[in-house]
Amino acid sequence: MNQCSVCGHQRNDRDVKCPECGSFYSKIAEIIAEQEALEEMQTFRGRCKKILASDDVKQALLSELKLAWAGLTKTGVFALFVIFVFVFALVVSVL
Ligand SMILES: [Zn+2]
Repeated sequence: MNQCSVCGHQRNDRDVKCPECGSFYSKIAEIIAEQEALEEMQTFRGRCKKILASDDVKQALLSELKLAWAGLTKTGVFALFVIFVFVFALVVSVL
């Protein structure tokens, strides 16, 4: 038997809402919150937050950089190279 995560009231599996405190048992709200947290982890802001929140900021930053580097595919590197060459060509032609 599960309990309400908010007030600890014994919950009925068929109930959608806690009769004691009125909080929803629905997993959907929980899943959405989890998803949002996960999505934030993927963003630059989320990563910065994670790095700043860790005990060893330097170590966290290094591991994040390693992850980012490992995540770079050959196509990604090639795309970066093309962009770099394009910008370089543009700068040279302007000069
Ligand atoms: Zn409750």
